[in-house]
Amino acid sequence: MSNIHPQTLRVQWTMTPRTEPQPWLHCSRCRGPRGFRSSGRIRLNANGRRVDAWLVYRCADCDGTWNRPIVERRAVGTLDREYLRALQSNDPTLVRTLAFDVAALKRWTDRMQEFDDVLVTQCVLEEPRRMPVLRLEIECRVPHPIGLRTDRLLASELRLSRSAVRRMAKAGMIRTVPEGADLRRLVRDGMQVVVETAQAVPSVCFTQ
Ligand SMILES: [Zn+2]
Repeated sequence: MSNIHPQTLRVQWTMTPRTEPQPWLHCSRCRGPRGFRSSGRIRLNANGRRVDAWLVYRCADCDGTWNRPIVERRAVGTLDREYLRALQSNDPTLVRTLAFDVAALKRWTDRMQEFDDVLVTQCVLEEPRRMPVLRLEIECRVPHPIGLRTDRLLASELRLSRSAVRRMAKAGMIRTVPEGADLRRLVRDGMQVVVETAQAVPSVCFTQ
């Protein structure tokens, strides 16, 4: 991007969800649909040459359990040793990866509750060639799905009210690349947002 406005600051915002998505399933104790939370514990059963592993979930209301199959009747020899060790030790990284794997969870339910409490890490991709900054280009990285709307993200990170964000979007001062994405939709990986103002973008907007 050599022909960009000299007063452009290019940043990358990486959004990391703080709360794991909750699959909604029928709870046999509550006798109704409930959100389930990962307990962080993996149950492993090695029966002869076969291995089964489940990530244990708990009903958010009654603490009833749901064992989510992770490994099903796999021959011991076909499992990677490191992976097996991670399963045996409730490895937190593995547990977290599994708990955030919405695509895999969809095998059991289509109803997923995603949360909007995310940690936003900002990094500068390209400094402006001239100050003050009049144009901010934001590249969104969302490694795990989040339940955060784009307008809410912009409002909180740019310290604006949501009505101000809406007004700026209407005036073409905030837009997405490619254009036309609905700011009320959830932030997606790879999304780009351009903010252009007549006044300088305050530095508080892009520094931690
Ligand atoms: Zn329950």
